[in-house]
Amino acid sequence: MPEGPEIRRAADRIGKALIGKTIQSGQWPYHSLVDRTDLIEGHEVLSVTSRGKAMLIRFSSGWTMYSHNQLYGRWTVHLHTTSYESRRSLRAEFITDRHAVRLWSATDISLLPTPEENAHPFLDRLGPDVLDDDITAEGLFEHLRSKKIYRKKGATLMLDQRSFAGLGNYLRSEILHGAGIHPDDRPCDLDEETLNLWATCIKNITVRAYEHKGITVDLAVAEESKMRGEPRRMWRHAVFCRNDRPCLTCGDLVLRKRYAGRRLDYCPTCQPSQRS
Ligand SMILES: [Zn+2]
Repeated sequence: MPEGPEIRRAADRIGKALIGKTIQSGQWPYHSLVDRTDLIEGHEVLSVTSRGKAMLIRFSSGWTMYSHNQLYGRWTVHLHTTSYESRRSLRAEFITDRHAVRLWSATDISLLPTPEENAHPFLDRLGPDVLDDDITAEGLFEHLRSKKIYRKKGATLMLDQRSFAGLGNYLRSEILHGAGIHPDDRPCDLDEETLNLWATCIKNITVRAYEHKGITVDLAVAEESKMRGEPRRMWRHAVFCRNDRPCLTCGDLVLRKRYAGRRLDYCPTCQPSQRS
């Protein structure tokens, strides 16, 4: 599933085509949109943004379209003069004077009055959105120390959208390795300095993934891995998908664990347990 950085980049791409434009026509066959096209058609798009892994498109009608792509949803952007066929099911199509923006196969779409969008059951439960400019490493440090999450394992916290919105499987492995945290350790097992480093890695590694198209390591490190002939899924990360290979930091073997069926790669030497 795409993680926060991928959804934010999709929002940027869609925003470029739609913001400031009037939706001249389109199709909205999805059941939650079908009888409500008057809230979209003929209105200007004011903003396109993401919250965690959800996309929000706000219209001058005072309504917002919420969508969550889950596993199969996909956005496409074309010039409206370009014909485009897909075997996926069309959910929404926005036509402007220049572009055709389409959403395919998503199964979680709704229209909400913009002032009430935060009351949506998914958005209402989200933790701080790591990519939000107002969310700082200091804020994330305080959040790690909060009662609600203080006693949860790192492996759980780095995936749970109610704890930190926008993180996902590759970011989980990369953040824990960056901060030197064992996946079974909890914030309450760690000293302030380590919690500070953890918070900094949550922010910086996620922003780096957003800015560098999913690359979580320094570009020079990625380049060196590429030169060794590694495939993309490996060279873009420090530990994720690098299991059974030497850790780029210490040279010891990267191990793979599964938590609730989801893979997590970590280095036992760089990430020793602090649990007493
Ligand atoms: Zn290591």
